[in-house]
Amino acid sequence: MTMFDDYISCRLCPRKCGVNRYETTGYCGMSAELKAAKASLHQWEEPCISCENGAGTVFFSGCSLRCVYCQNSEISNNGYGMAVTAEKLGEIFLQLQDRGAENIELVTATHFLPHIISALDRVKSQLKIPVVYNCGGYELRETIKRLDGYIDVYLPDIKYFSADISRKYSSAPDYFQQATDAVTEMIEQVGKLKYDDKGKLLKGTIIRHLVLPNCRHDSMRILDWIAENTSSDSRLVSIMSQYTPFDFISSDYPELKRRITKMEYNSVVRYAENLGIKGFTQDITSAREEYLPHFDLEGII
Ligand code: SF4
Repeated sequence: MTMFDDYISCRLCPRKCGVNRYETTGYCGMSAELKAAKASLHQWEEPCISCENGAGTVFFSGCSLRCVYCQNSEISNNGYGMAVTAEKLGEIFLQLQDRGAENIELVTATHFLPHIISALDRVKSQLKIPVVYNCGGYELRETIKRLDGYIDVYLPDIKYFSADISRKYSSAPDYFQQATDAVTEMIEQVGKLKYDDKGKLLKGTIIRHLVLPNCRHDSMRILDWIAENTSSDSRLVSIMSQYTPFDFISSDYPELKRRITKMEYNSVVRYAENLGIKGFTQDITSAREEYLPHFDLEGII
């Protein structure tokens, strides 16, 4: 097995656990063995990501954020998945390309960064499609710097503005500072939005934001930051309505036990429009479960 120094005293993300992942696991719940839960063509991303054939999405197990309402809890909090070597991961990327994937989309991958870089070193020259980095935004700027030259499109969340909310739901009071530093680095790295002649995004950044119950004013502060600190030719914003109140959510958070209302969602969308922010919205009346993948090790075994 290839040994990666980063895992010996892991400080890949803002948790900076400092643990030896060859002996134990950190906050993300993952050891030095990469685990993934699915590699498939995924239709439910933004139109310029999914395009005609679907994104070539690889879902990684574990997560350094572990939100109490996580929409992918089976893999992020419960660690469902199967061990994959860096060599095999490179082969999975090439298989997705052969199946017609529009891109390679890495979902929540930072806690496996050494594996990701090793896999891309092996196959990037054979990939004719963009590499998309889909993450929760809670990233160290210096870790994102190490992805320079490997990633074409960044797809980060900015989830919270308020430290009280990010502490309450993700035990991360420094979330906004870390996420905005990381997004600034991402935008600097990949530059202006660039599309192919079919409208597929080849370069650039899409900032995602999931509107949470009772949090629309927090959403608006995030949009203020985006409007004031990023340039419209370098980023799009995707405002998501698909928040799903799963049964596992603790009764400590009664406010999270409902979907968002039309009023909440539409007020955030209108606010973005008034700021001149361009991007994507979702139909709040459509079924949200269809956006949520079923994890079954497809493409991994
Ligand atoms: S990647 Fe995991 S082990 Fe490493 S610092 Fe982050 S949470 Fe801790």
